[in-house]
Amino acid sequence: MDNNKSRFPLWLLCLILFIVLVAAAIHLISAGVNSIPQEPAAAPGEPSSSEMVVPDDAFPLPEETVPADMLTPEGTEADMIMQGDAADDMNTWTVTAEEAAAALDELESSLNAVSEGLHVHHFVNGVCDSCGAKPVFYTDLVPEELLQPATQEGSVSLHEYTVTNYGNRGVGEVEKCFNVYVPWGYDGSQKYPVLILMHGANDDYDSWLLEEHEYGSGTLSGKALLDRMIELGYCRPCIVVSPAFETRTIQGITAAVYQMRDELREYILPWLTEHYSTYAENNSLEAVAAARDWFALGGLSDGALFVYEGGMRYNFDLFGNYVAFSGNGEPWKTVSAIQSDEWAELPIQCLFTGAGGDTDIQQHYTEIGYDYFIENDSRFRAEENAWHVDVTGGHVWKVWLTGLCNALPLLFP
Ligand SMILES: [Zn+2]
Repeated sequence: MDNNKSRFPLWLLCLILFIVLVAAAIHLISAGVNSIPQEPAAAPGEPSSSEMVVPDDAFPLPEETVPADMLTPEGTEADMIMQGDAADDMNTWTVTAEEAAAALDELESSLNAVSEGLHVHHFVNGVCDSCGAKPVFYTDLVPEELLQPATQEGSVSLHEYTVTNYGNRGVGEVEKCFNVYVPWGYDGSQKYPVLILMHGANDDYDSWLLEEHEYGSGTLSGKALLDRMIELGYCRPCIVVSPAFETRTIQGITAAVYQMRDELREYILPWLTEHYSTYAENNSLEAVAAARDWFALGGLSDGALFVYEGGMRYNFDLFGNYVAFSGNGEPWKTVSAIQSDEWAELPIQCLFTGAGGDTDIQQHYTEIGYDYFIENDSRFRAEENAWHVDVTGGHVWKVWLTGLCNALPLLFP
């Protein structure tokens, strides 16, 4: 084969690689330049900026060096001429103009994603510590993009168990269960925050995650919302647990609160931390307590009452985050409990409350409960780690699903 002819495609390849690298460099430089205010147009008679004399040291260039991985062990530049099979492959490799353009497009879009600084906001004292953004709250429906089906779906599995009947003074046992949501791509070598969500009266363990609720002109489930929020970076991937609360065997709010406040400690948290990868180092309550900033307890209506009466008041050592929708309890008793000697030094990572506006029968109690915490315990700081946000709609699931979207980005450190 004619030697010059066989070398031609290699030369072409090098040229294309060179063009791609130059384009990438130009893109990066222009992305940086975009943030610099533009110079005003030159006044008549003045030289335009392109005619101005630029000092030699205005844009110091780095000294030309050969990257370390391009050096041979002797410290000289590596011989770039390939040999053997690799060289044969290169010599028969061709690229069309369309393919080169497509490669450039792909490179440009990935560079754009980097330069736009896409990230999951991380709120500290009510401001994202990466970009300075404040939380965005929705007072009607969530953004349309969150109502589209996710391409990467998490999964929900049901766990059934027999547990002590704490609701009936520890006499006998009851059949209970909970649903566990894990995000798409769940990886046992990573750590995940945990949100436990309690349903209200007349709902069950499927209501938060699997049931389709009327929402806007269609329907929405908590799982679909979680999938989409995580996929689009509205919040970090997390594990969400939805236990059976008020049931046929544990009837009435009082018995249900007694049942769940002990069941959380004695069964749900130990089981969960044994079977899933959380921030707790092991499945002991001490380990959960040490990682309490990464555990959140939420609920709606009767479930919100539980968040205060059974969660915060009896399990303050295990949860650093609380979410209460359309419900409240007796906050003076809860504040008194969390100011006990044992818990007075424990911080609050987040308190989020919300209700369904004037037409929600629990709106007033929810909001004055929130106010009570702000006014009586300095660990709750309005707009920094504590929020109350109403959503129009009443005592209905639409309000609580939008509320979940409002609350999730604020939870956890
Ligand atoms: Zn941010």
